[in-house]
Amino acid sequence: MSNTRTNNHYRTKNIVYVSREQQIWTGQRGENARVECLAIDPQGKVCFCGTQQSYTEKFASPAEIHEVQGSITAGGIDAHNHFWFALLGDIPCVSHLQNAQQLGEFLQTYAQTCPHDIVFICNVNNTHEISQTLLDSCPKPVVAIHRSFHKAYLNKKAQRLSQITQIPQQDIINNWQVKNCAMHLLRSEVFAEEYLQKAIVNFAKKLLQQGIVCIHDMFIYDVNFLPMIQKIPIPYRLYASRNELQKRPDVQQYFTGVKSFIDGAIGTQTAKFHDNYANTSQNGIFYSSIEQLLEDIDFAIENSLQTSCHGIGSLGIERILDVYEMRKDSLIKPRLEHFECPTERDIDRLHHIGGIACLQPNFSQDSYDYATILGERRKIINPFRQLIDKQVPFATGSDGMPSGLRECLLWSIKPRYEEQRMTLQEAMHYSTVATTQLADHEAGLCVGNDANFVYFSKPLDELHNYPNERITSNWTELRQQLDELLPISGIYLQGKCVGDNDE
Ligand SMILES: [Zn+2]
Repeated sequence: MSNTRTNNHYRTKNIVYVSREQQIWTGQRGENARVECLAIDPQGKVCFCGTQQSYTEKFASPAEIHEVQGSITAGGIDAHNHFWFALLGDIPCVSHLQNAQQLGEFLQTYAQTCPHDIVFICNVNNTHEISQTLLDSCPKPVVAIHRSFHKAYLNKKAQRLSQITQIPQQDIINNWQVKNCAMHLLRSEVFAEEYLQKAIVNFAKKLLQQGIVCIHDMFIYDVNFLPMIQKIPIPYRLYASRNELQKRPDVQQYFTGVKSFIDGAIGTQTAKFHDNYANTSQNGIFYSSIEQLLEDIDFAIENSLQTSCHGIGSLGIERILDVYEMRKDSLIKPRLEHFECPTERDIDRLHHIGGIACLQPNFSQDSYDYATILGERRKIINPFRQLIDKQVPFATGSDGMPSGLRECLLWSIKPRYEEQRMTLQEAMHYSTVATTQLADHEAGLCVGNDANFVYFSKPLDELHNYPNERITSNWTELRQQLDELLPISGIYLQGKCVGDNDE
């Protein structure tokens, strides 16, 4: 990343950004949500948000004034992501392929040019109708990772390589044997440690280029990744399973919380609901028993760690809250990840015990991707309006699918159903300032905070011009469309430009 902006030199004056059209979006609520004037002191902290007139009345000292061309927004906080996606590095994402035939053709061609001995592909989804025959027709070992990352498909060659039975018991997370195999193969067969180090740093840099200035990693797969993560250029908060944290008590201090899983994902029909999936006689899977979840929570309490649990289906969410209620007086900021299809009663219960939900606006897309397996339930994925109306605290993250401030805002303002819609101002708030409720860090353009922000060359409102029906599940295409609609001209950390996005 280049450092070409003039304000990177040693400064003594405040820098003042002025936008007559109030195109400075702070992430705050109320009258300072959009302001005319933002001032940054020589230490890179926000020292003022408000009208230009009151700035002039308050600060007599000379300042460097910049007229905002386009818009400035607080840097996004991705409160649910995963560094281990970095492992996926140069693995092709196949979401653009529309059926089994296209996938088969792609595999044949890619197998010939693929630089690895094993063919990895990611973002396989239900439209690909993966079959063993299709995977076995590829001449190399194939590992296909499902979009939800809760499932992976291995062809016979890959199965033989992975020697499923030899994966040590403690590495088997819940009933994710196949996924564990995929991870095992990724790590042992393809990527050396030096590759991974580079990949993790690049992953963080890419997030930064997309307007993300802090990340919560909700599942450090292996605590030994820590030294690699510590080299990344943006702030982070880390969560890992009790098993991982127990392995290395010496590194516990670097972790914010314990991550548990109550259920799986919708696409793999493992999210646990009260009612069966449409056209099937099953309602998902519990990954943890009440006893296991309690053990995780008690471990967290004992070690002054936060508690965080993945829960997507209504029954999964109900069970998490049953357990949280048993320990409600000792929990530290209990988090509930995804909270996609909660019952009204459980929304109230979460609020009552002081819990905070972390939702993913991009998953509102599942309302149409998974319409046939969800039925009527598709309308209650991401009940943002209900949460906002009830004043239940929550924040947002991406789960890495894909990450980026613009993507998060776009999905928030243009969902399929009214119940899922946020205003642009609300979306800015829940992806910045609101995340401080999930973990201790600064967020948003608030006085006293580091001036971490994104400079767009057009007004943020341009996002409203994105055609509703065009939102695509092809991430690369979406990124290109967003680059045209609302280009990012610079990312600023502590008031300094760290990249012009010109690479
Ligand atoms: Zn996740």
